[in-house]
Amino acid sequence: MVPVSWSFSGVGTQHGQTKMKIHEYQAKEILRKFGVVTPRGIPCFSVDEAVAAADQLGGSIWVVKAQIHAGGRGKGGGVKLARSKEEVRKLASEILGMQLVTHQTGPEGQKVRRLLIEEGADIRKEYYVAALTDRASQKVAMMASSEGGMDIEEVAHNTPEKIIKVFVDPLVGLSDAQALELARSIGVPEASQAFAVDAFKRLYACYMETDASLAEINPLILEGNGHIKALDAKFNFDSNALFRHPEIVAYRDLDEEDPAEIEASKFDLAYISLDGNIGCLVNGAGLAMATMDTIKLFGAEPANFLDVGGGATTEKVTEAFKIMLKNPAVKGILVNIFGGIMRCDTIANGVVAAAREVKLKVPLVVRMKGTNEDIGKKILADSGLPIISADTMAEAAQKIVAAVA
Ligand code: GDP
Ligand code: MG
Repeated sequence: MVPVSWSFSGVGTQHGQTKMKIHEYQAKEILRKFGVVTPRGIPCFSVDEAVAAADQLGGSIWVVKAQIHAGGRGKGGGVKLARSKEEVRKLASEILGMQLVTHQTGPEGQKVRRLLIEEGADIRKEYYVAALTDRASQKVAMMASSEGGMDIEEVAHNTPEKIIKVFVDPLVGLSDAQALELARSIGVPEASQAFAVDAFKRLYACYMETDASLAEINPLILEGNGHIKALDAKFNFDSNALFRHPEIVAYRDLDEEDPAEIEASKFDLAYISLDGNIGCLVNGAGLAMATMDTIKLFGAEPANFLDVGGGATTEKVTEAFKIMLKNPAVKGILVNIFGGIMRCDTIANGVVAAAREVKLKVPLVVRMKGTNEDIGKKILADSGLPIISADTMAEAAQKIVAAVA
């Protein structure tokens, strides 16, 4: 079996490729557009809305589901079955506003601000199915498992042979034969295989047409009546393709995103929060990655990825400093600039102005190479600010690591 690089977790970046996430109820709206069968459900923002939704849906069993941009909600207590409208009210008031902790949220959890109220489903069997970009084969992989539901991470880890994969020829798309192979290998009963084939092909079409990097249904269920239904869904979208999907951008929920990253995007700064204590301000994504690696090489951890881009003005550099310093974990800053089109004196002026404006209290190491390097270094030296200068990346990293130690 070909190994597939993939992840169930919700990390924001994959080597500079950012992705956008959406809520389950939005994911299901998209699936329905592509003809995948889902339970009927209504998103809600208050307890009263939740009770009204149960009323509107009718029936006698409802599922109250926390909507956050993280999986594992079931195990964290964010997915509950209600057998009466009073119970819907009770569960909705418990879940709405709670700080939901799952293995994907981190220990601080994520505040629940939205609910999905759905009609209950008659589950005979839970499967897993996903479409994702497989870098190794440079194709889309469709993966499926008989062991869907809340323990799929353990299945992937302990019994990877229970995850079946097929690789899709981009010119042909997911063929009937491949879809049937998936359905059979995960044990869909013969009478229901046509429904599964249909769901797989629609999921593939949906993945392709929305420029998703992951489209996952878990669980995909076999109902008592033999039908196939998507009970939970998750999408990641390639941010680089969002310009052609305004309808997906409209799904953005800023409450679920890192405030520092939102602030940075306003100034056209590519910023990703990380766990370390050294803030990095770099121009160019490649140099930013190399800078983070060098910091790690000398035994420390970067607090962020930050690419100020090619046209870094004084204003942009100042904003970048402000955003980095909002993170209380930052104990020092490393500026690493290559002056090509961007001249080092421009950056030096920006750094000096920014350091003055934010009244910089943490050590600052600056390494500059390229156009007008000497003028830039003189500006830093003459500023009267305690800026530590470095010539090579290794020297810069060692100096900032020593300064924060
Ligand atoms: P996740 O834990 O964040 O992946 O949330 P899911 O939406 O996948 O829900 C977790 C589990 O709750 C599912 O695997 C199902 O076992 C169960 N569940 C979800 N919806 C229903 C439903 O309508 N009826 C029943 N009986 N169980 C449900
Ligand atoms: Mg799930």
